[in-house]
Amino acid sequence: MEIKRIKDRGISGLHEECGVFGIYDIEGADVASTIYYGLFALQHRGQESAGIAVSDTSGPKGMVDSYKDMGLVNEVFDAKKLQTLHGNIGVGHVRYSTAGESTRENAQPLVLNYIKGTLGLAHNGNLINANELKEHLSETGAIFQSTIDTEPIAYLIARERLHSATVEEAVNRACAQLKGAYSLVVMSPRKLIGARDPFGFKPLVIGKRGTTYIFTSETAALDTIGAEFVRDVLPGETVWVTSDGQLHSDTSRCIQKEKEARCIFEYIYFARLDSYIDGVSVYDARIKAGRFLAQDSPVEADLVVGVPESGNAAAMGYALESGIPYGTAFVKNSYVGRTFIKPGQSSRESSVRVKLNVLREAVAGKRVIMIDDSIVRGTTSDRIVGMLKEAGAREVHVRISSPPFLWPCYFGTDIPVREQLIAYNRSIEDIRKIIGADTLGYLSIDRLREMVDGLGICDGCFTGNYPLEPPKQDIRGDYQK
Ligand code: SF4
Repeated sequence: MEIKRIKDRGISGLHEECGVFGIYDIEGADVASTIYYGLFALQHRGQESAGIAVSDTSGPKGMVDSYKDMGLVNEVFDAKKLQTLHGNIGVGHVRYSTAGESTRENAQPLVLNYIKGTLGLAHNGNLINANELKEHLSETGAIFQSTIDTEPIAYLIARERLHSATVEEAVNRACAQLKGAYSLVVMSPRKLIGARDPFGFKPLVIGKRGTTYIFTSETAALDTIGAEFVRDVLPGETVWVTSDGQLHSDTSRCIQKEKEARCIFEYIYFARLDSYIDGVSVYDARIKAGRFLAQDSPVEADLVVGVPESGNAAAMGYALESGIPYGTAFVKNSYVGRTFIKPGQSSRESSVRVKLNVLREAVAGKRVIMIDDSIVRGTTSDRIVGMLKEAGAREVHVRISSPPFLWPCYFGTDIPVREQLIAYNRSIEDIRKIIGADTLGYLSIDRLREMVDGLGICDGCFTGNYPLEPPKQDIRGDYQK
C-alpha cells in the first residue's frame, strides 16, 4: 500500500507553505517552550517538519541549541527535548515543502557557523533565483547540504556580514539579491532580525509580550502565546531587536505601494481564520468572498454549506448575503494526520470519504449550495458533490471562493503545471459537468482586491500576470505565456 501524506485541512488539494517564529527575551528567560507553542499555532502552515534553534545572548557567541525533525510539532518535541534547549533568543519553523524534498536535511531552522558567530534562519516562501544564487555561491566555494532556498540565503547573509558593519545591514544586502517570496526570521548571537520581500507575498508580524519581542507569520501565533500585536512588518522592510530592547527598522528595500503583491491565497485559504494580515481580517475577507459570490452567482436553494474548514466562512458570507440558511453538511475526521495511509486506486475506501462524511438529515431532499475555497484538479470536488447527491441532496450548486486556477505558482504554493489544472483549456460548463454539479460559479478576479480592502495582491495563478517574471523553466515545466 502506498503511503502518502495528505493535507490536514480543506480538501481542495492545495498545500500550505511554511510558518516562521522568532523571539528575543531581553530579560534572559528561556524561549524554547514559547517557540513550541507559537509553532503549534502555525501548524496549519506546514506539517512535514518542525524545528527550534535557541541561543543565549549573554553567553559565548556561536553556542546554539537546536533540534529539528520530520513530523508535527508535538511529534518532534516533547517536554524532555524542550528542556535541553537553553537560550533567550531563538527561531522556529514548520515546513511544507514547495521547493526541495521532504527530508530531515531540508527541515529548518538552518544553523550556520561562520567567522562572526552563528546564524539561525527560518524562511517562508520560494525564491525564483535560487538556482542562480546557488551556482554563483558554489563557484566561490560554498557547499550545499540541503536543497532548500534557505541555504543560499544563509550563505549570502554570512558573506555580506564580512563586509557589513552590522548583521542587519548584511541581511538587508543579502535580501537585495533575492528574487521571489520570502519572510525571514534570523537569529544572530545578539540580535533578532525579521525581513519581508518587497512584494509582501508572505505575511510577517511583530508582537510583544512584556519586554519580549516576537516576529512571526501570523497574528494567531501571537494570541496563542499571550503577546500583543504591535504591527505588520512592511513589504520590503527589515526589522531588528537589540539587547536594549529597542525595535529598529530599515525600509530602504520597500517599493511603491501599488506594486505590492500579497499572496491572495493567504486570505482565501492558507492563513488561520483568526489571523490578520496587513490590517485585514482573514475571517472578514472570507465572509466578503461569500457575499460577493451570492451577489454575482445567485441561485435558488434551501441550504448553504461550506467544505470544511476553509469553505465555512465563505459559506456563512453567502448565507448572510442571500438569506438562505447556513448549515453543516459535513462531519470531518480531524485525526487524519501526516502519516495517513492514503487508499490506493483499487481500494474501495477513498481518502475523501475517510476525511469527510455527509450528514444525511441535513441535506436529504434539499437544494444545497456548497462553497469550497478552490478547485485544483477537480478529483475531490467530484467526489464531494457525489457524496451530497448520494445522501439525498436534490440539487448541488457549487460556488468557489476564488477564481479558476489557470497558471502555476512560483512563490511558495504548490499549484501544479497548467495541464494538471482542471480549468486549463476548459469552460466553466465543462468543469461543472466533470464535477457533477447542477450549477458552478467562481469568484471573479475583479473581486479579489475588494476582498482585502484594496491592498496590493498577487493574482498570478489566475491571470498569469506575475509580479515578477517567472523562471523560463522550473521543476514544474516550461513557462509558456
Ligand atoms: S501565484 Fe497565486 S498562490 Fe502564488 S503567490 Fe500569487 S496569488 Fe499566491
